[in-house]
Amino acid sequence: MGRRKTKSPRQASLSSIPDAVVNRLSLYLRELEHVLRSGHETTSSSALGKALGFTDAQVRKDLAYFGQFGYPGIGYRCGELIDAIRRILGTDRQWSVAMIGVGNLGRALLGYRGFERQGFRIVAAFDVDRHKIGTSIEEVAVYDLSQLPEIVRSHKIRLGLIAVPAAAAQSVADRLVAAGVEGILNFAPVTIALPESVSLVGVDLAIEIEQLSFSVVNRCGPKVSDG
Ligand code: NAD
Repeated sequence: MGRRKTKSPRQASLSSIPDAVVNRLSLYLRELEHVLRSGHETTSSSALGKALGFTDAQVRKDLAYFGQFGYPGIGYRCGELIDAIRRILGTDRQWSVAMIGVGNLGRALLGYRGFERQGFRIVAAFDVDRHKIGTSIEEVAVYDLSQLPEIVRSHKIRLGLIAVPAAAAQSVADRLVAAGVEGILNFAPVTIALPESVSLVGVDLAIEIEQLSFSVVNRCGPKVSDG
């Protein structure tokens, strides 16, 4: 059986693919890695969908944005699809990352080894607290924020993580942009504005918990009347 075509006519417009599809791509990657670790070399859209709570049609439609990956009678070859998704997500390479703010959250993130396994290496941290500047946390040096431009340049840093108080997030983002960083992951619970040339993703666990409470409250309908 021949290898199927892996280039899609739609690949030219990858930036117009809905965010929800790209989010699910990350979920497919996690599940495929899990399937491969469990000793299975192939899987199917229905198995992937079942594990993640999607229909097999949804899985096929999502993957079709990026090419054709399945083989008739076989399904997906996990290793091959993992490589393809990593290429699409840009995690097939090493990224140098800066952490801004080494308080509770910044320190916890510096201690998380999972980022490095996914190709994201935090190579420098920055803070404005003189007690933290000049120290090392999890073997990552903490620099004065004023050193951002030179360290970004010397370490070829392209991504920045913001873990500073909300009031400081926009000015930190502006400094990251001025230093030449191309993508920012913002943990501060505030909306920040960036030029279009810089990518931004915000993470707010409080919003996720709100979604969870909404789901729990509305799953079975109202139980008790407060009135
Ligand atoms: P923290 O007060 O423990 O740490 C903040 C750190 O930022 C400190 O080390 C401080 O010196 C440093 N800092 C302050 N201003 C700075 C600046 N201009 N430049 C560089 N460093 C600066 O706070 P935390 O608990 O680590 O939380 C950090 C941020 O993450 C807060 O905005 C918080 O609301 C947010 N947070 C988000 C989530 C989430 O789910 N996204 C979860 C927890 C915390």
